[in-house]
Amino acid sequence: MSLVVQKFGGSSVADIERIENVARKVIASREAGHDVVVVVSAMKGETDRLNELAFGAAQSSTPRPREHDLLLSTGETVTIALLTMVLERMGAPARCLTGAQVRILTDSAFSKARIQDIDAELIREDLGAGRIVVVAGFQGVDENGSITTLGRGGSDTTAVALAAALEADECQIYTDVDGVYTTDPRVVPTARRLETVTFEEMLELASLGSKVLQIRAVEFAGKYQVPLRVLSSFQDGPGTLITMEGQKNMQQGSMEEPLIAGIAFNRDEAKLTMIGVPDTPGIATQILGPVADANIEVDMIVQNISNEGLTDFTFTVNKTEYDRALDILRKQAEVLGAREVFGDNSIGKLSLVGVGMRSHAGVASRMFKALAAEGINIQMISTSEIKISVVTDEESLEVGTRALHKAFGLDDRSGNTVSVEGQSV
Ligand code: ADP
Ligand code: ASP
Ligand code: MG
Repeated sequence: MSLVVQKFGGSSVADIERIENVARKVIASREAGHDVVVVVSAMKGETDRLNELAFGAAQSSTPRPREHDLLLSTGETVTIALLTMVLERMGAPARCLTGAQVRILTDSAFSKARIQDIDAELIREDLGAGRIVVVAGFQGVDENGSITTLGRGGSDTTAVALAAALEADECQIYTDVDGVYTTDPRVVPTARRLETVTFEEMLELASLGSKVLQIRAVEFAGKYQVPLRVLSSFQDGPGTLITMEGQKNMQQGSMEEPLIAGIAFNRDEAKLTMIGVPDTPGIATQILGPVADANIEVDMIVQNISNEGLTDFTFTVNKTEYDRALDILRKQAEVLGAREVFGDNSIGKLSLVGVGMRSHAGVASRMFKALAAEGINIQMISTSEIKISVVTDEESLEVGTRALHKAFGLDDRSGNTVSVEGQSV
């Protein structure tokens, strides 16, 4: 007998018929002899709908954080009740629990709360009594008893955190595609499903924009060594296993790593530039200090070589922080005597990820050549051991992704079509 945590995303619980499909899958695992803890998201589109309601009520895009989180958390509360009713109707003893009922304790950072502790006792009692336990994803409770949420896509993190707390044998993330692909199959229909992907690669892919797994879920899985698999709710198959690096080599029976595991892209960033800044020691901290003080996260940073004592400084932030960052930069430009400030919020970031890059030269030049052949201009570049990212204009993002997918030999040549939500695309 093993213990599995199974998470079903929004499109997997979009209506009662799909909830019945989930219930059948869960019951099949139970009948195969496993203890099952199920984590569900809100029904498809529900979190967006609740957001719109909140914006309307508050007449603001930043409603009161405590009430906003409480409201958003209700989407998942609806689904756990519905799934439990369906399970009971199908003859499977089950009980549902909200994040607060489990006692998924988080900090008080509303809308991006971090899990601090999970009390596994109630869940263990239910499992011991032979029940399927259905837990609401995305939500927790802080030490004051306020309901918190874990950020968009946060049900993945609930599932992995529960799997870690319960020492589950596997955490299975069921979604609308049948695994992790070489890139988003909605954009590149010739994308290939990966049998395995390393934690490191998955961490990069998630942080660079592949929303198939929330980044915190991958972090948790790595930290607590939770075996993690991404699968489809709509068709059977092995999905994609997230592995430790050594494991991957052994499983594929080869010591040779593929050069590139996948391509991620991200439309959520904006670029800000300060031109003609006096190039003196401490300039970077004088520009970025006030941005950090305003709690705005900075991603890529480029400083030009100085010319006649002046330099240009460019960085990217999340699009939602663009206006605030621009205001701060304009004020700082006056203080520093910089010539000009400008910004661009229609950029895109395109990234190649692969542990195989460590031991291969020439990846960057191949990437730049492929983009140049499409006439795509590169605005910024950043690299790490296992990734290369470039900023382009937003319009070039999809063409660029397809070009790189081809240039690095990632296209599926088997003629298989990708299936999203069980339908070919
Ligand atoms: P859920 O609601 O089940 O959590 P999400 O929409 O959050 O599902 O994540 C699944 C989606 O992630 C897919 O439909 C796909 O469009 C997108 N995606 C982006 N990058 C990838 C990738 N590399 N592999 C698979 N899916 C990806
Ligand atoms: N319902 C939340 C969202 O849409 C959490 C999740 O689905 O993981 O982001
Ligand atoms: Mg998701």
